[in-house]
Amino acid sequence: MRDYMSITAPIFNIQTYSIHDGPGIRVTVFVKGCPLRCLWCANPESNLATPQLMTYANKCTGCGRCIAKCPEKAISLSMNNDKVAAVTNRELCTDCGACTTICSSEARELAGKTMSVGEVLQEILKDRLFIESSGGGMTVSGGECLIHPEFTEALLYASKQAGLHTAVESCSFASREIIDRVFKYVDLALLDIKHMDSFVHKKLTGVPNELILDNIKHIYHILKVPVYVRVPIIPGYNDAEKNIVSTAGFVAEQLGPDVQVHLLPYHRLGESKKESLSKKADMSIEVPSEDHMQKLKALVEQYGLMVQIGG
Ligand code: SF4
Ligand code: SF4
Repeated sequence: MRDYMSITAPIFNIQTYSIHDGPGIRVTVFVKGCPLRCLWCANPESNLATPQLMTYANKCTGCGRCIAKCPEKAISLSMNNDKVAAVTNRELCTDCGACTTICSSEARELAGKTMSVGEVLQEILKDRLFIESSGGGMTVSGGECLIHPEFTEALLYASKQAGLHTAVESCSFASREIIDRVFKYVDLALLDIKHMDSFVHKKLTGVPNELILDNIKHIYHILKVPVYVRVPIIPGYNDAEKNIVSTAGFVAEQLGPDVQVHLLPYHRLGESKKESLSKKADMSIEVPSEDHMQKLKALVEQYGLMVQIGG
């Protein structure tokens, strides 16, 4: 692969000591941009492939220094919870990031930075000792890493060249050509199934599920990549017994008994991030109880599959 180290993509996080994204201690690279719009998205700052301003009113001291930095005159001071804080007019803001350079209170940050494969690999290899001693590796996640296929393919290739175990976390919503290119350098695929009914899937995520289910079968049967199926458990949206049974049936009958199922309970982290992006959070989604998770786990186990709660 020619000059693969210089291929770039927008990255919004490189998480070290990650223990939920594959075996051992891993470095997880979060690529920005996603073709889905899940109602419960835990990483809303990953939706767009371009940088996005995030603001934290609780950290703002009201010093006002960011106001003069903004070329769009998008910032003003206003009362917020009995204190003066900076407010951003999102209709004027262009996400240029200028205001983040002056704020010493970390009340503003720009999510997303363009990085090359070489730069990302350099970061990953700083943790080589922990990765190798724990049987870990590198995981590329998102957003959806398949919307940057050149970068993702090159990062996986570079990681394999460096002797690292590779994993991909994906929604599998991509063309077959992209799937074939990217997954040839993957040791473990962590693939989401969000709903088995395509009509409901489209309502919840913006896209139907036929391509996704087909790609999961292709990755497992044709490309021979080991697969873990991940099911986010979102109360009121996809946690009905019928859907979980249908998901387990798909894994047992159309994939294989060695495919693990990970049930990922909904958490509220994405809601505060939505506020930081000035988006409305859906406060109606409840966190599933331990009891409920255990019941769903037992349903999947009936199919003879290995199941765990959490990643
Ligand atoms: S966002 Fe930062 S720079 Fe702007 S008023 Fe608040 S503390 Fe000051
Ligand atoms: S990101 Fe740029 S346009 Fe947006 S508020 Fe900050 S300085 Fe203004």
